[in-house]
Amino acid sequence: MVDKECIFCRIAGGEIPSSTIYEDEDFRVILDLGPASKGHALILPKEHYRDLCELDHTIAAKVLPLAGRLGAAMKKALGCSGFNVVQNNGEDAGQTVFHFHVHVIPRYKDGAKIAAWEPQKADPEQLSRLSSSIKEAME
Ligand code: AMP
Ligand code: ZN
Repeated sequence: MVDKECIFCRIAGGEIPSSTIYEDEDFRVILDLGPASKGHALILPKEHYRDLCELDHTIAAKVLPLAGRLGAAMKKALGCSGFNVVQNNGEDAGQTVFHFHVHVIPRYKDGAKIAAWEPQKADPEQLSRLSSSIKEAME
């Protein structure tokens, strides 16, 4: 399904021009217009899925291999020493475009800082309760 109102559906379908790095029958890979670092790319499925919870399993199985291929190409082409694979689900998690996408962000020695979380101290009892309740919800 494609959503005519969705900007990433329109970009993935080629209706809106983008800096396309790669395209096949399932995906278009573009450069992000608000990059976290030089070469920040987005993997967009051509079909509309709101987030990872909705993503088709066949498409899901192809996403990580493509991200790995893209990251390897970035290391070769851009001279980055590594890359982050980031994928946001829901507003509170930082998702701003509600069409599933994967960020592939090149990282350079002494390059731009990218926000990371502050590790909290885990309480063993709470870990036990949390693992039980998530485990139950997965069944
Ligand atoms: P997220 O916050 O995970 O939903 O990521 C959305 C990303 O899409 C952000 O990094 C934006 O900079 C990027 N973005 C939004 N609109 C466009 C566009 N038209 N072309 C390229 N990147 C875009
Ligand atoms: Zn869409």
